[in-house]
Amino acid sequence: MYRIIPPFFTALFSAFLFSCPQRTDPIDPGVLMATAQLQGWDLEIDGTISFSEIIMHGTHIFGDIRGLEPNRIYAIHIHEGSSCEDSDAPGGHFDPARSGVHGHPGLSPAHRHAGDLPNIQAGSAGIAQVDYITNSIGLRESPFSVIGKTIVLHADADDFTTQPYGGAGERIACGVITAANNPSN
Ligand SMILES: [Zn+2]
Repeated sequence: MYRIIPPFFTALFSAFLFSCPQRTDPIDPGVLMATAQLQGWDLEIDGTISFSEIIMHGTHIFGDIRGLEPNRIYAIHIHEGSSCEDSDAPGGHFDPARSGVHGHPGLSPAHRHAGDLPNIQAGSAGIAQVDYITNSIGLRESPFSVIGKTIVLHADADDFTTQPYGGAGERIACGVITAANNPSN
């Protein structure tokens, strides 16, 4: 004796089958972690910023920056240059969509630099935390990859309005974003 499988369940099972990945070779996840060691050019500022790309969820940018003025608000951005040799070396804000506009990180990267990040504020001990998730940048090979780019701390807060850099003032610390692992190796 056999039971007739209702069409609904057959359809459900088919939907399940077709939603599964068809390929059998391992999917190359590419670079999923990166770090930048921030160093002040003139001030005793240092920090480690980590980048972790969570597939389908964006890239988590997190870390601490030390040696800051207590309670001061600072702008921090990803720049398109690949060197921290001097304060001009990082170049302009990372703008892979060629928006040509500086703006609030909540906007789509079509309408602002993808490298525009929220301000950070130092606590009473002069340490600021970076903790932000964004879909505007990534780590795997694409125009939006920040591997080899720079992350730059500015002396003042970003007003997200003034062009081209949000009135964020002098560049005071910088780090090159470097791939931290490659799980496909
Ligand atoms: Zn910008």
